Amino acid sequence: MIKRPFISLAKPRIEYEALDVTLPEPKMIQTPKKVTLLLNEPFEPFGKKNAVVLKKDDSVKTGQKLSLYDGSDAYVISSVTGTISSISSFLGEFGRSYTAIDIDVAEDEEMDEAFKALSVEPTMDIAKAYLSEIPGNPPISLFSNGSASPSIDSIVICGVDSDLLITANQHTLVSDEKALQKGVSILKQLTGIENIIMAAPEHLMQNAGLSGAQVAVVDAGYPATLPRIMMQNVLGKIVPAGKSCEDMGVCFVSAEAVASLGMAFDQGQIPFSKKFNLIKKDGTSVMISARVGTPIHEIFSACDVTVNEKDRIILGGPMTGSSIYSENHPIQPDTHAVMIQDGKTLPLVSDYPCINCGECVRICPAKIAVNMLVRFLEAGQYEQAAEEYDLYSCVECGLCSFVCVSRMPILHYIKLAKYELGRIITAEATNA
Ligand code: SF4
Ligand code: SF4
Repeated sequence: MIKRPFISLAKPRIEYEALDVTLPEPKMIQTPKKVTLLLNEPFEPFGKKNAVVLKKDDSVKTGQKLSLYDGSDAYVISSVTGTISSISSFLGEFGRSYTAIDIDVAEDEEMDEAFKALSVEPTMDIAKAYLSEIPGNPPISLFSNGSASPSIDSIVICGVDSDLLITANQHTLVSDEKALQKGVSILKQLTGIENIIMAAPEHLMQNAGLSGAQVAVVDAGYPATLPRIMMQNVLGKIVPAGKSCEDMGVCFVSAEAVASLGMAFDQGQIPFSKKFNLIKKDGTSVMISARVGTPIHEIFSACDVTVNEKDRIILGGPMTGSSIYSENHPIQPDTHAVMIQDGKTLPLVSDYPCINCGECVRICPAKIAVNMLVRFLEAGQYEQAAEEYDLYSCVECGLCSFVCVSRMPILHYIKLAKYELGRIITAEATNA
């Protein structure tokens, strides 16, 4: 929701979606005939020294851990019972390499029992080995060897949602109280961290209080729920450019991830259904629950959404989401929203040049000279953009793209620049 001041030069205030007082039941999507799981590891059947341990025609059970290579740390959890029909390369955002594992779903479901026996005595090793890819994507790798990494001393659980029109974390706060409570106590037990804070909107304070974590209220105005903004407003810490929240000792986890952890250890079963918002062409938002790996066209057909030529499909919310180019793209453990925009009314991204109107500079919460930054990004001069125009102070809120009168895709330039610089730094570290 956008609130514009009547007579003033103040910035427009954009507010997050507040969850209805009457809790909406998620629309349950039927298990599809085929799911696709994305493994965060390139598919290199002939380039790896380690043996391939997952093959076409292998049978898998629901909740089974699937790794591609012998001894590999990367894995996914099967969300269905069935037979692997293909394993192939998959290119994600900015050309990131994944492996797509297609599974034909069997009629009868069988649950894998490997985690059940281990779940009786929760340890960090068990969580790392089985629960990194559960719905909500808990950042378990930030914690190490049975205790939290020495640098992390606080955990902020997001009972708020990071983009507009999304309510999945708020929904978890209201509907999964027991799982959240269990999840908070498991987090304390596994990490040894006592300073666990539940960030929640004001109208859900009572629900947040039941979780067993400390509670902090987060403002309803966008982009107050982005981690770097919460660092400042909730914890009173400013994250310097080039540093991450983790560098400052703080780890952010979604409420859904914590509830998934709680559910896994409470029931001895790895959760496999993802909660997310479907944002339709008319801007209405529906809460959905579907198995991880469900192709997006299944969601559309269950919700009577028709895709026409030139419509845009976006993973994520309206301010920070990214376009995808296939309706076969699967729901992943970190999918918070799927949005479809009508091609007829779509605000087109243009190749008009910057006219130096200054709108982006006025709205930027990080006080970046975006009008200057964008010139370097367009020219591919990423290092200069970082050194001279505060690229790394950007909190990736997308407000600059939203207000840009030339409709420049500024946020996507910024994400690409950070990605490319990250690749250069990794390559230099590897070759050093
Ligand atoms: S996305 Fe744009 S408005 Fe937001 S912090 Fe970055 S530069 Fe500023
Ligand atoms: S809002 Fe767009 S056109 Fe205006 S100064 Fe910023 S980049 Fe340039």
